[in-house]
Amino acid sequence: MRIARRTFLKSCAAIGAAGAASALPASARETAPVPDGAGVLVDTTKCLGCRTCEAACAEANGLAAPEAMGDDAIFATHRTTSPGQFTVVNKAQGGGEDRYAKSQCLHCLVPACASACPVKALDKTEAGPVVYHEDRCIGCRYCMVACPFDVPKYQYDRAIPYVRKCTMCATRLAKGGKPACVENCPAEALTFGKRSELLAEAKRRIYAPGSTYVPEIFGEHDAGGTSWMYIADRPLSDFGLPRDVGDETRFDKTRGALGAVPFVITLWPPLLMGLYTASRRRDEENDHE
Ligand code: SF4
Ligand code: SF4
Repeated sequence: MRIARRTFLKSCAAIGAAGAASALPASARETAPVPDGAGVLVDTTKCLGCRTCEAACAEANGLAAPEAMGDDAIFATHRTTSPGQFTVVNKAQGGGEDRYAKSQCLHCLVPACASACPVKALDKTEAGPVVYHEDRCIGCRYCMVACPFDVPKYQYDRAIPYVRKCTMCATRLAKGGKPACVENCPAEALTFGKRSELLAEAKRRIYAPGSTYVPEIFGEHDAGGTSWMYIADRPLSDFGLPRDVGDETRFDKTRGALGAVPFVITLWPPLLMGLYTASRRRDEENDHE
Protein backbone atom coordinates (compact mmCIF):
# COMPACT_ATOMS: atom_id res chain seq x y z
CA MET A 1 0.00 0.00 0.00
CA ARG A 2 2.77 2.37 0.95
CA ILE A 3 4.68 1.62 -2.27
CA ALA A 4 1.65 2.39 -4.38
CA ARG A 5 1.21 5.70 -2.59
CA ARG A 6 4.86 6.62 -2.91
CA THR A 7 4.87 5.77 -6.59
CA PHE A 8 1.77 7.87 -7.14
CA LEU A 9 3.17 10.82 -5.27
CA LYS A 10 6.46 10.60 -7.09
CA SER A 11 4.70 10.60 -10.43
CA CYS A 12 2.61 13.60 -9.46
CA ALA A 13 5.61 15.37 -8.08
CA ALA A 14 7.61 14.76 -11.24
CA ILE A 15 4.91 16.56 -13.22
CA GLY A 16 4.85 19.50 -10.92
CA ALA A 17 8.32 19.73 -9.48
CA ALA A 18 9.31 22.53 -11.79
CA GLY A 19 6.82 24.75 -10.12
CA ALA A 20 7.70 23.46 -6.71
CA ALA A 21 11.15 24.86 -7.20
CA SER A 22 9.84 28.34 -7.70
CA ALA A 23 7.14 27.91 -5.06
CA LEU A 24 9.54 26.99 -2.29
CA PRO A 25 11.38 29.78 -0.49
CA ALA A 26 14.79 30.49 -2.00
CA SER A 27 16.44 29.45 1.26
CA ALA A 28 15.23 25.89 0.64
CA ARG A 29 17.24 25.73 -2.55
CA GLU A 30 20.34 27.77 -1.86
CA THR A 31 23.55 26.04 -1.00
CA ALA A 32 26.31 28.05 0.60
CA PRO A 33 29.74 27.63 -0.97
CA VAL A 34 32.15 25.40 0.92
CA PRO A 35 35.48 26.91 -0.06
CA ASP A 36 37.84 24.53 1.66
CA GLY A 37 36.21 21.17 2.09
CA ALA A 38 37.89 17.97 1.00
CA GLY A 39 38.65 17.26 -2.62
CA VAL A 40 40.79 15.16 -4.92
CA LEU A 41 43.52 16.15 -7.35
CA VAL A 42 43.63 13.87 -10.39
CA ASP A 43 47.08 13.86 -11.98
CA THR A 44 46.44 12.37 -15.41
CA THR A 45 50.18 11.99 -16.08
CA LYS A 46 50.26 9.31 -13.38
CA CYS A 47 47.12 7.37 -14.25
CA LEU A 48 47.81 3.90 -15.67
CA GLY A 49 44.31 3.21 -16.95
CA CYS A 50 44.19 0.11 -14.74
CA ARG A 51 40.59 0.82 -13.61
CA THR A 52 41.31 -0.32 -10.06
CA CYS A 53 39.42 2.80 -8.98
CA GLU A 54 36.32 1.58 -10.83
CA ALA A 55 36.47 -1.76 -9.01
CA ALA A 56 37.12 -0.10 -5.63
CA CYS A 57 34.20 2.27 -6.16
CA ALA A 58 31.88 -0.61 -7.07
CA GLU A 59 32.87 -2.58 -3.99
CA ALA A 60 32.54 0.41 -1.65
CA ASN A 61 29.07 1.20 -2.99
CA GLY A 62 27.76 -2.37 -3.23
CA LEU A 63 27.57 -2.21 -7.04
CA ALA A 64 28.29 -4.89 -9.63
CA ALA A 65 31.96 -5.25 -10.55
CA PRO A 66 32.93 -3.27 -13.67
CA GLU A 67 32.84 -5.20 -16.92
CA ALA A 68 35.88 -6.22 -18.97
CA MET A 69 38.51 -5.49 -16.34
CA GLY A 70 41.94 -5.90 -17.90
CA ASP A 71 40.61 -5.59 -21.44
CA ASP A 72 41.98 -2.50 -23.18
CA ALA A 73 39.29 -2.79 -25.86
CA ILE A 74 37.02 -1.00 -23.42
CA PHE A 75 38.91 2.24 -24.13
CA ALA A 76 37.75 2.20 -27.77
CA THR A 77 34.61 4.06 -26.75
CA HIS A 78 34.16 6.99 -24.38
CA ARG A 79 32.07 5.77 -21.43
CA THR A 80 29.92 7.75 -19.04
CA THR A 81 28.80 7.00 -15.52
CA SER A 82 25.55 5.14 -14.93
CA PRO A 83 23.24 4.24 -12.02
CA GLY A 84 25.36 1.12 -11.58
CA GLN A 85 28.79 2.70 -12.03
CA PHE A 86 29.71 5.96 -10.33
CA THR A 87 33.14 6.35 -11.91
CA VAL A 88 34.59 5.39 -15.29
CA VAL A 89 38.13 5.62 -16.67
CA ASN A 90 38.53 6.85 -20.25
CA LYS A 91 41.51 7.14 -22.54
CA ALA A 92 42.42 10.63 -23.74
CA GLN A 93 41.77 11.52 -27.36
CA GLY A 94 44.40 13.07 -29.57
CA GLY A 95 47.99 12.13 -30.23
CA GLY A 96 50.94 11.62 -27.91
CA GLU A 97 51.49 9.10 -25.16
CA ASP A 98 48.55 7.14 -23.79
CA ARG A 99 46.83 9.10 -21.05
CA TYR A 100 43.78 8.21 -18.96
CA ALA A 101 41.45 9.92 -16.52
CA LYS A 102 38.60 8.80 -14.35
CA SER A 103 35.40 10.79 -14.26
CA GLN A 104 32.75 11.04 -11.55
CA CYS A 105 30.83 13.77 -9.74
CA LEU A 106 33.14 16.77 -9.39
CA HIS A 107 31.53 17.89 -6.12
CA CYS A 108 31.12 21.49 -7.25
CA LEU A 109 31.62 24.26 -4.69
CA VAL A 110 28.15 25.62 -5.48
CA PRO A 111 26.47 22.61 -7.07
CA ALA A 112 23.88 23.33 -9.73
CA CYS A 113 22.26 19.97 -8.95
CA ALA A 114 21.58 21.07 -5.38
CA SER A 115 20.38 24.54 -6.32
CA ALA A 116 17.94 23.03 -8.84
CA CYS A 117 16.55 20.46 -6.43
CA PRO A 118 13.19 21.65 -5.06
CA VAL A 119 13.33 19.45 -1.95
CA LYS A 120 17.01 19.68 -0.98
CA ALA A 121 17.68 16.05 -1.81
CA LEU A 122 21.21 17.07 -2.82
CA ASP A 123 23.45 18.91 -0.40
CA LYS A 124 26.96 20.30 -0.38
CA THR A 125 28.31 19.25 3.02
CA GLU A 126 30.86 21.24 5.00
CA ALA A 127 33.24 18.31 4.61
CA GLY A 128 33.20 18.73 0.82
CA PRO A 129 31.08 15.92 -0.69
CA VAL A 130 27.81 16.64 -2.46
CA VAL A 131 25.51 14.00 -0.97
CA TYR A 132 22.08 12.69 -1.88
CA HIS A 133 19.14 12.12 0.47
CA GLU A 134 16.95 9.57 -1.26
CA ASP A 135 14.21 9.90 1.35
CA ARG A 136 13.65 13.50 0.20
CA CYS A 137 13.84 12.87 -3.56
CA ILE A 138 10.58 13.25 -5.47
CA GLY A 139 12.02 12.02 -8.76
CA CYS A 140 11.71 15.29 -10.69
CA ARG A 141 15.23 14.88 -12.19
CA TYR A 142 15.93 18.62 -12.17
CA CYS A 143 19.39 17.82 -10.88
CA MET A 144 20.11 15.89 -14.06
CA VAL A 145 19.14 18.83 -16.23
CA ALA A 146 21.09 21.31 -14.10
CA CYS A 147 24.40 19.48 -13.78
CA PRO A 148 26.86 20.91 -16.32
CA PHE A 149 28.83 17.66 -16.29
CA ASP A 150 26.02 15.15 -16.96
CA VAL A 151 26.70 13.34 -13.70
CA PRO A 152 23.46 12.40 -11.88
CA LYS A 153 21.88 9.28 -13.36
CA TYR A 154 18.38 7.88 -12.78
CA GLN A 155 17.30 4.32 -12.10
CA TYR A 156 14.72 4.19 -14.89
CA ASP A 157 14.49 0.41 -14.64
CA ARG A 158 13.44 0.40 -10.98
CA ALA A 159 9.87 0.40 -9.62
CA ILE A 160 11.00 3.04 -7.13
CA PRO A 161 13.86 4.83 -8.86
CA TYR A 162 16.43 7.12 -7.30
CA VAL A 163 19.20 9.36 -8.56
CA ARG A 164 22.66 7.84 -8.37
CA LYS A 165 26.10 9.43 -8.39
CA CYS A 166 29.45 9.44 -6.61
CA THR A 167 29.25 10.74 -3.03
CA MET A 168 33.02 11.06 -2.58
CA CYS A 169 32.55 8.20 -0.10
CA ALA A 170 31.11 10.70 2.41
CA THR A 171 30.54 8.04 5.06
CA ARG A 172 34.17 6.91 4.83
CA LEU A 173 35.30 10.52 5.10
CA ALA A 174 33.13 11.02 8.18
CA LYS A 175 35.10 8.20 9.84
CA GLY A 176 38.42 9.80 8.94
CA GLY A 177 38.94 7.71 5.79
CA LYS A 178 39.51 8.53 2.12
CA PRO A 179 37.41 7.78 -0.93
CA ALA A 180 37.80 4.11 -1.93
CA CYS A 181 39.18 5.03 -5.36
CA VAL A 182 41.92 7.18 -3.83
CA GLU A 183 42.85 4.55 -1.28
CA ASN A 184 43.17 1.82 -3.91
CA CYS A 185 44.88 3.66 -6.78
CA PRO A 186 48.24 1.93 -7.24
CA ALA A 187 49.83 4.87 -9.06
CA GLU A 188 49.04 7.72 -6.66
CA ALA A 189 47.22 9.42 -9.51
CA LEU A 190 44.59 10.56 -7.00
CA THR A 191 45.53 12.85 -4.11
CA PHE A 192 42.98 13.46 -1.37
CA GLY A 193 43.09 16.55 0.83
CA LYS A 194 41.81 20.03 1.51
CA ARG A 195 40.96 21.82 -1.71
CA SER A 196 43.29 24.77 -0.97
CA GLU A 197 46.20 22.40 -0.39
CA LEU A 198 45.39 20.44 -3.54
CA LEU A 199 45.39 23.67 -5.55
CA ALA A 200 48.78 24.58 -4.13
CA GLU A 201 50.10 21.11 -4.93
CA ALA A 202 48.73 21.30 -8.48
CA LYS A 203 50.50 24.63 -9.03
CA ARG A 204 53.70 23.28 -7.50
CA ARG A 205 53.69 20.40 -10.01
CA ILE A 206 52.72 22.59 -12.96
CA TYR A 207 55.38 25.25 -12.34
CA ALA A 208 58.21 22.96 -11.19
CA PRO A 209 61.43 23.24 -13.25
CA GLY A 210 61.23 21.04 -16.35
CA SER A 211 57.49 20.49 -15.94
CA THR A 212 55.59 19.27 -18.96
CA TYR A 213 52.14 20.06 -17.51
CA VAL A 214 49.87 22.44 -19.36
CA PRO A 215 49.39 25.53 -17.16
CA GLU A 216 45.77 25.01 -16.25
CA ILE A 217 43.82 23.22 -13.55
CA PHE A 218 40.43 21.86 -14.47
CA GLY A 219 38.07 22.68 -11.63
CA GLU A 220 39.94 25.65 -10.24
CA HIS A 221 37.36 28.00 -11.72
CA ASP A 222 35.21 25.83 -14.01
CA ALA A 223 31.51 26.07 -13.11
CA GLY A 224 32.46 28.23 -10.14
CA GLY A 225 35.09 25.75 -8.91
CA THR A 226 34.94 22.05 -8.09
CA SER A 227 36.30 19.90 -5.29
CA TRP A 228 37.76 17.38 -7.77
CA MET A 229 40.44 18.94 -9.98
CA TYR A 230 42.56 17.70 -12.87
CA ILE A 231 46.03 18.44 -14.24
CA ALA A 232 47.56 17.07 -17.44
CA ASP A 233 50.43 17.35 -19.89
CA ARG A 234 48.04 17.82 -22.81
CA PRO A 235 44.87 19.81 -23.36
CA LEU A 236 42.31 18.96 -20.70
CA SER A 237 39.64 18.83 -23.38
CA ASP A 238 41.36 15.62 -24.64
CA PHE A 239 39.92 13.91 -21.57
CA GLY A 240 36.34 14.84 -22.35
CA LEU A 241 36.35 17.45 -19.59
CA PRO A 242 33.99 20.17 -20.82
CA ARG A 243 35.87 23.47 -21.09
CA ASP A 244 32.83 25.52 -22.04
CA VAL A 245 30.96 25.58 -18.74
CA GLY A 246 32.31 29.03 -17.85
CA ASP A 247 33.83 30.24 -14.61
CA GLU A 248 30.68 31.38 -12.86
CA THR A 249 28.60 29.12 -10.68
CA ARG A 250 25.50 27.71 -12.32
CA PHE A 251 23.42 28.69 -9.30
CA ASP A 252 22.03 31.95 -10.65
CA LYS A 253 21.46 30.47 -14.10
CA THR A 254 19.61 27.51 -12.63
CA ARG A 255 17.55 29.72 -10.44
CA GLY A 256 16.67 31.95 -13.39
CA ALA A 257 15.58 28.97 -15.43
CA LEU A 258 13.38 27.70 -12.64
CA GLY A 259 11.84 31.14 -12.24
CA ALA A 260 10.73 31.02 -15.88
CA VAL A 261 8.48 28.00 -15.31
CA PRO A 262 4.90 28.78 -16.41
CA PHE A 263 2.53 30.03 -13.74
CA VAL A 264 0.08 27.15 -14.21
CA ILE A 265 2.74 24.67 -13.19
CA THR A 266 3.55 26.62 -10.06
CA LEU A 267 0.05 26.01 -8.73
CA TRP A 268 0.43 22.25 -8.81
CA PRO A 269 3.46 21.66 -6.65
CA PRO A 270 2.53 23.32 -3.36
CA LEU A 271 -0.49 21.05 -3.32
CA LEU A 272 1.58 18.00 -4.20
CA MET A 273 4.29 18.90 -1.74
CA GLY A 274 1.65 19.36 0.95
CA LEU A 275 0.22 15.93 0.15
CA TYR A 276 3.66 14.42 0.12
CA THR A 277 4.62 15.94 3.47
CA ALA A 278 1.29 15.00 5.05
CA SER A 279 1.51 11.40 3.89
CA ARG A 280 5.13 11.11 5.03
CA ARG A 281 4.10 12.38 8.43
CA ARG A 282 1.32 9.80 8.47
CA ASP A 283 3.81 7.07 7.60
CA GLU A 284 6.08 8.16 10.41
CA GLU A 285 3.17 8.15 12.84
CA ASN A 286 2.17 4.66 11.67
CA ASP A 287 5.76 3.50 12.08
CA HIS A 288 5.69 4.64 15.68
CA GLU A 289 2.47 2.81 16.44
S1 SF4 B 1 29.25 17.62 -10.96
FE1 SF4 B 1 27.00 17.74 -11.27
S2 SF4 B 1 26.17 16.24 -9.78
FE2 SF4 B 1 28.30 16.68 -9.15
S3 SF4 B 1 28.11 18.38 -7.65
FE3 SF4 B 1 28.49 19.32 -9.68
S4 SF4 B 1 26.41 19.77 -10.43
FE4 SF4 B 1 26.16 18.25 -8.78
S1 SF4 C 1 43.30 3.22 -10.02
FE1 SF4 C 1 44.61 5.03 -10.31
S2 SF4 C 1 46.02 4.45 -11.96
FE2 SF4 C 1 44.34 2.96 -12.02
S3 SF4 C 1 42.87 3.84 -13.49
FE3 SF4 C 1 42.22 4.57 -11.48
S4 SF4 C 1 43.21 6.56 -11.23
FE4 SF4 C 1 44.27 5.51 -12.93
